Amino acid sequence: MEKVILIRYCEIHLKGKNRSFFENLLLNNIKTALKNFNLKVTKTPARYIVSEFNENDESEIIEILKCIPGIFSFSRATKIKTDLHEIEKLSIALMQDKKGTFKVNTNRADKTVALNSMEISREIGGKILASNKNLTVDVHEPNFSVSIDIRENGETFVFTDSILGVGGMPVGSSGKALLLLSGGIDSPVAGYMMAKRGTEISAVHFHSFPFTSPEAKEKVITLANKLKKYAGKINLYVVSVTNIQKEIHKNCHESYMITLLRRCMFKIAERLCKEKGLDMIVTGESLGQVASQTIESIKVVESVVESTPVLRPLIAFDKNETILISKKIDTFKTSTLPFEDCCTVFLPDAPIIKPKLEKVLIEESKIDAENLIKEAMQNIELIEI
Ligand code: ATP
Ligand code: MG
Repeated sequence: MEKVILIRYCEIHLKGKNRSFFENLLLNNIKTALKNFNLKVTKTPARYIVSEFNENDESEIIEILKCIPGIFSFSRATKIKTDLHEIEKLSIALMQDKKGTFKVNTNRADKTVALNSMEISREIGGKILASNKNLTVDVHEPNFSVSIDIRENGETFVFTDSILGVGGMPVGSSGKALLLLSGGIDSPVAGYMMAKRGTEISAVHFHSFPFTSPEAKEKVITLANKLKKYAGKINLYVVSVTNIQKEIHKNCHESYMITLLRRCMFKIAERLCKEKGLDMIVTGESLGQVASQTIESIKVVESVVESTPVLRPLIAFDKNETILISKKIDTFKTSTLPFEDCCTVFLPDAPIIKPKLEKVLIEESKIDAENLIKEAMQNIELIEI
């Protein structure tokens, strides 16, 4: 008899010939996330098993598993030899203190076992009922369930709980993104959503020191660390746009400040993608949220990007939907600390809401954008998270 954690994965079963690639990737991601613990992670058909861990570490291990993309759910289970008598004894013991309704679920991958899964559930259910007078059966909405997972190799797992994971695909299965990470609420959520779909995350943060404070940068590092729980290792590139903003402020019409700054940010982002071998730019934009996120603004900003897909996982989200996720992934409190973002430095009273490309190009011609961008790219700081 051994205590283990039994892990089930998500959409990997849909992947025909590529299935073993996804399975091995998730196995490696689980091993990496748990590398600081003394334990074993093994793959069996359609399951992963965490075993030989110290029971004192169990709750910490569970918190880590809850954050690994690709895991559908997992259970704290007891592993025993496939033997109906042993299964019965264990099931009765698991339910001995319980009061209320219950059901037994059986999954029988080993077809050599004499009874089929329905018969096993009925048999064990009957024995539990006989041993505990405080229980009755409810197969639809039971208070408790006993699950019996009989595997092909003579092993059976018995468990009473099932903890949901984040779902999605294992990180590393869906390309590499450069996340535009501000200190706000939206962009960390956008990064989480992409990691959940299997994307590796690098991030770029633009600051305007000394107009933005060192604390604003620390805040972004904290956010990246919180994102790391889901995405794994993150390369954070920190770029100063102070001179770009000063030049725009000095030479261009003030209502174009954010549009012009964002065009420079996207140019830098695409160049970084090309330099670092990243496949896509990801932002936390949501349609119509602010002046820079109207479709007209998105269009004139994105038009500087030559050949890199720009993905916006929150494009159709309401702010409150994003906030719910930011609370779930524990970035909300950090995101709402009151430090200035470079987008709020030199903020015009009336930013242009529906910019026209011809006018934007006229304003942009008043600065030497190319040289300013080159200069910004020469001083990029890399922080490995
Ligand atoms: P957020 O809550 O993520 O800051 P926001 O609602 O404040 O978003 P904007 O400031 O318009 O919106 O920014 C839209 C998107 O542009 C952000 O989600 C982020 O992806 C990117 N962005 C904005 N400011 C920065 C910055 N200083 N560094 C990197 N990316 C940024
Ligand atoms: Mg912002």
